Amino acid sequence: MPDSTALVWFRRDLRLADNPALQAALRDHARVVPVYVHAPDEEGDWAPGGASRWWLHHSLTALAAGLAARGAPLVVRAGESLATLAALADEVGATAVYWNRLYEPLLIQRDTRVKHALRERGLVAESHNAALLFEPWAVKTGSGDPYRVFTPFWRNCQQHLAEVPPPLPTPARLPGVAASPPGLAIDALGLLPRIPWDAGMRAQWVPGEAGAQARLAAFLDEHAGDYAANRDRPDLPGTSRLSPYLHFGEVSPRQALAAAMQAVATRRAAGFAGGVESFIREIGWREFAHHLLYHYPFTVDTPLDRRFADLPWRTDARLLEAWQQGRTGYPIVDAGLRELWHTGWMHNRVRMIAASLLCKNLGQPWLEGAKWFWDTLVDADLASNTLGWQWTAGCGADAAPYYRIFNPILQSERFDIDRAYLRRWLPELAALPDKWIHRPWEAPAEVLASAGVVLGRDYPAPAVDFRTSRGEALAAYEFIKKEA
Ligand code: FAD
Repeated sequence: MPDSTALVWFRRDLRLADNPALQAALRDHARVVPVYVHAPDEEGDWAPGGASRWWLHHSLTALAAGLAARGAPLVVRAGESLATLAALADEVGATAVYWNRLYEPLLIQRDTRVKHALRERGLVAESHNAALLFEPWAVKTGSGDPYRVFTPFWRNCQQHLAEVPPPLPTPARLPGVAASPPGLAIDALGLLPRIPWDAGMRAQWVPGEAGAQARLAAFLDEHAGDYAANRDRPDLPGTSRLSPYLHFGEVSPRQALAAAMQAVATRRAAGFAGGVESFIREIGWREFAHHLLYHYPFTVDTPLDRRFADLPWRTDARLLEAWQQGRTGYPIVDAGLRELWHTGWMHNRVRMIAASLLCKNLGQPWLEGAKWFWDTLVDADLASNTLGWQWTAGCGADAAPYYRIFNPILQSERFDIDRAYLRRWLPELAALPDKWIHRPWEAPAEVLASAGVVLGRDYPAPAVDFRTSRGEALAAYEFIKKEA
């Protein structure tokens, strides 16, 4: 092995196991210098929001501890990525820079510039895939085009699941340079909120690779077998809650796939049917989201289906704020927005119901909802968030048909079966009988009185009438039918 030094540029691959860039650097060089460059401006309008910054702080802290324990402390710097990497390479005499790829449009452009510039300076600059099972350009329709519909996309991927390489091991030792170059303390990046609103997130999450592995193992042991049956129920811990860990690369989709396949085999051997496969399919949705973002980068703020570009939104700051604060008067939506505010996460079924109410009933632009999620979700991910919002608004790939408008009352009755979700997040309604908690405005006066609820004082009346606003939305979307 040449007596050389390589930089390993950590970004959203904040783990030691199954890290191809780290492994490549270790294979070809005598020493590695792990570096994190804080450059949020390079992400344009989609720099990490408040909840993501909180996660990033803790994730970097966990990564730094893991790296230092193995011999190569993390160097944290802030500034323009190329200039920072070039300066550090000079300082430590590095001849190569390795990293794992990202797929956001601005970051692809940035990384391409960095790669060319480093190579022009005579360095090896090499990128790897650590974030996806399949590169977005590797999955094609029969005619060589990108997919726009999930089912055939995933059918194609499934034929190649066996070819996905197994996860790489955690390096036991990381040979570093004799004197670690100076860097910033993680605190100096200012990622934590100045006003401490993060108590709910601290109570819920353990960011970092160890937290990710613990969550994956707990999910597969305790919930994966019932995943297909329970995944739509916000009142149960039925889903993996791996999304922030996958976003920050604290666990890789390859690791999740390998562990899930193992669980499938174990369950089959024990005579249990299915369950875990539908979890693997959800990982497929994450792949699809990245496929779409890569091939249709304009979708971050523009409908994929251009017919929806001129939809007449009713921009109304008051309605948007009521939705953001969980005060729409529709309990399942308000519970979801409050769960989001407190924990940085919202159940997928509730995300769909809340997004549908915002776009279809309150008439607010989907992009406003996407921005709110961006700031408040710990799993805020440009690919998955864009897909989720465009799907719900009816203007994206594989979209919910424009005439599908989630009924927040029926959805609530169907999926919050025990009403535990509503009672947890809306304590002001907790004393209402099961029959009325999904629709308090229809409850008889004496029922409200005996539950101690005064609508408009303790809990709002609905911001809009569901039936009327549904009719208005369908009328607004009418032009699509004419163009079809
Ligand atoms: P599980 O059900 O356990 O699924 C396992 C993994 O599969 C998830 O961790 C996630 O990585 C992936 N996954 C599951 N469902 C989807 C999906 N519909 N699209 C893409 N990937 C999926 N997910 C994000 O990770 N970041 C976002 O910013 C985001 N924004 C969304 C916005 C809207 C309006 C909607 C409707 C959905 C959004 N989703 C987003 C998708 C989904 O809600 C979350 O991935 C899921 O709730 C995460 O919970 P989990 O980890 O328990 O999922």
